[in-house]
Amino acid sequence: MVFLSLILLGGWFWANEDVEIIPIQHASMILKWQDQVIHVDPWSQGNYEGQPQADLILLTDVHGDHLDLKQIAEVSKPDTVVISPLSVQESVTQAGILQNGDSTTVYGIGIEAIPMYNLKRGPSEGRLYHERGRGNGYLLKLGTSRVYISGDTACTPEMKALTDVDIAFISMNLPYTMTPEEAAECVNAFKPRIVYPYHYRGSDLEKFRSSVTAPGVEVVLLDWYGK
Ligand SMILES: [Zn+2]
Repeated sequence: MVFLSLILLGGWFWANEDVEIIPIQHASMILKWQDQVIHVDPWSQGNYEGQPQADLILLTDVHGDHLDLKQIAEVSKPDTVVISPLSVQESVTQAGILQNGDSTTVYGIGIEAIPMYNLKRGPSEGRLYHERGRGNGYLLKLGTSRVYISGDTACTPEMKALTDVDIAFISMNLPYTMTPEEAAECVNAFKPRIVYPYHYRGSDLEKFRSSVTAPGVEVVLLDWYGK
């Protein structure tokens, strides 16, 4: 039956025994690893009721669905560490700056900033929605798991060159990032063990799933918009 082919899992999901994933809204999520709570792009359009505050906040970009000062304050504790690119730190002054290619370790969590940018899409001729160098995707080392969060990006050479990724969160939606087919092309290139579409409002997830053809890649659909 065709209608059974698209099943969205709500609530939380264990990707493996180490990392718990809580989709919040669009680009916003919580990852739990050991006793650490990581918030990615906390956004006040999401429902944070009952969710823990952050030990670590990762911010990817200056756009409103990624940079929300009110929600950053809501999920912060006195000892919360915030990591962002320089462009975001201009607004979030407590953030530690990680530029593309930089790495650091916070509370035992390895963090590498991966470039995220458009190759061709932009608001007008000669301009891009996301200029290279402004925003960060992140590659996290959580124990033995390598977790990649793409941020708003096209299928860049940097993404295609990733290796040994266990869990990947891949953005898609037009006009800002990728089509499902473009996202799948990138996934087929770097072959993460599990891929979760996120930041996918309006995208055809079945098209994404059917276009992910690389062997050994599992597509898992979580519900990022149902709350
Ligand atoms: Zn976005």
